[in-house]
Amino acid sequence: MRELEEKIKEYGTVLPGNVLKVDAFLNHQVDPELMLHVGQEFARLFADAGVTKVWTVESSGIAPAVMTGLAMKVPVIFARKHKSLTLNQNMYVADVYSYTKKTTNRISISKKYVSQDDKVLMIDDFLANGQAVEGMLEIADQAGVQVAGAGIVIEKSFQPGAKELKDRGIRLESLARIKSLADNQTEFMPD
Ligand code: 5GP
Repeated sequence: MRELEEKIKEYGTVLPGNVLKVDAFLNHQVDPELMLHVGQEFARLFADAGVTKVWTVESSGIAPAVMTGLAMKVPVIFARKHKSLTLNQNMYVADVYSYTKKTTNRISISKKYVSQDDKVLMIDDFLANGQAVEGMLEIADQAGVQVAGAGIVIEKSFQPGAKELKDRGIRLESLARIKSLADNQTEFMPD
């Protein structure tokens, strides 16, 4: 998505550890117009997929996920993150290791908002090692719902998540694909 790539070029900065900082429009300050276009693009890409619900993980996935839900006219659920290991019978839970924070969080989704005939589209801001999406897939498995695919705003294609999802047969649509962040330079994958 050209508009997104332009924003990354203009505002993105590279931090140590192959982390791209995009606080100017996605991870802290949010550009609503760009997010609307992101949501519309996911809606276009998954238009025929029979999506009944959008899932994401708090907090940075919420902005693109809500815009996707708006464009697709379906509800959005954001999995909650917990530091503690509390178990609750009314929740589906999975453990997710955070690439940027180097900690494990337990994510949960209430059974109340999941129905057996759901077909879920998973949205996230970044795809690195694929842990966040894997956690949502684990919950989808527990809940017995179908998965339409994963929509990622920024895929770091040089890290293993994208390949792992494709190898598992998950449909993956990423709006910006980064080939490398070496030498503080953001290099995109060719179209
Ligand atoms: P994964 O679970 O695929 O390893 O990482 C995905 C999560 O880690 C995303 O939800 C995002 O919050 C965070 N993340 C991974 N890589 C980056 C990055 O380069 N920049 C930022 N801002 N967040 C990242």
